[in-house]
Amino acid sequence: MIKGRYIMQNIQGKVFVVTGAGSGIGRALSLALIQEGAKVAGVDLNEDSLKETKKLAKPASQSFAMFVANVADLEAVAALPKAIEHVFGPVDAIINNAGIIQPFVKVDDLDLEKIRKVMDVNFYGTLYMVKTFLPLLKKRPEAHIINISSMGGFVPVPGQTIYGASKAAVKLLTEGLYSELKGTSVRVTVIFPGAVGTNITKNSGVDMKMTDAEMKEASKKQRSLTAEQAANLIIQKGIKKNRYRLTIGKDSTMLDRLTRLFPQKAADLIAKAMANLLK
Ligand code: NAD
Repeated sequence: MIKGRYIMQNIQGKVFVVTGAGSGIGRALSLALIQEGAKVAGVDLNEDSLKETKKLAKPASQSFAMFVANVADLEAVAALPKAIEHVFGPVDAIINNAGIIQPFVKVDDLDLEKIRKVMDVNFYGTLYMVKTFLPLLKKRPEAHIINISSMGGFVPVPGQTIYGASKAAVKLLTEGLYSELKGTSVRVTVIFPGAVGTNITKNSGVDMKMTDAEMKEASKKQRSLTAEQAANLIIQKGIKKNRYRLTIGKDSTMLDRLTRLFPQKAADLIAKAMANLLK
C-alpha cells in the first residue's frame, strides 16, 4: 500500500500517455518527460502536429510514439491500451491534457452543438481515458492520473462559462478519483494552469475579436507562462511531488486564494477584466 505523499522517484523508463501531445502544453510535457527518460505515447487529433512533436523529440524520438485519436470518441480511446502496449508495454501514467476553449460569447449566444463539443472533449474525453486506463493502472506497482483542469475551473470567466463548467467537472472528477483511489497504487493529481502562451484559440477554431498584435500585447501584460515553463512545473511540482492539486502561474495561484476567501469579489474582478472582450 502506498501512503501519504509518495514520491514518484522514477520517471525514467515509465510509460506515459499524454493527450493533446501535438501542441502547446501537451507537446512540452511530452518532450520534457522524454528528457527525464520516460516513454511517451502521444495522442492527438492532429497527425501533422504529432509528427512535429516526434521530430522535436530527436535524438530520442524512439521514445515517442504517435496515436491519432479523438479523445471524445470512446471507441477510439478504448483501442489505445492495446496499441500502446504493443509499442511500449504497460502504461504507468496518463496525462489528460487535450482540451478546447469555446467561442468568446455568453451562454445565451452559444448554440448547444458547440456547448456539447466542449463538454465532449474536455469532460467526456478525460472521463473516457480514465475509464479505459484505470483498470490497467490499478495493476501497476505505481501509477498516476494527472488531469489538466484550468483556473477557469474554479473562477467564472464570462465568455468562457461552458469551458469553465467543463473544467470544473474535470476538477471534481479528479478530486473524487483521488478519494476513491486512496490506498491503491494509483496517485491522482489535478492541475490548474493560469494563462499559458499556446495556440489553443486557433486550435479550438475560435475567432477572436482581438488582432494577433493585441493578443500578444495582452499576453505580455498577463505575463503568461510558456508551455515549456508550465510543463516543467507540472512535472517537477505536480508529478514528482505527487501533489493533490497544483496551480500553475501567479494568476492561477492568486485567483485560487481570492476565490476561496472572497468568491464574489473574484468573480467581479474577472468580469471587469473581460468586459471589453464581450462588448
Ligand atoms: P493547444 O491547443 O496548444 O493543445 C491542445 C492539443 O489538444 C492540440 O494539439 C489539439 O489538436 C489536441 N486536441 C484537441 N481536441 C482533441 C481531441 N478531441 N482529441 C485529441 N486531441 C485533441 O492547447 P494548450 O493551451 O496546450 O492546452 C492544453 C490543456 O491545458 C487544455 O486542456 C487546456 O484547456 C488547458 N489549459 C490551457 C491554458 C492556456 O492558457 N493555454 C490555461 C488553462 C488550462
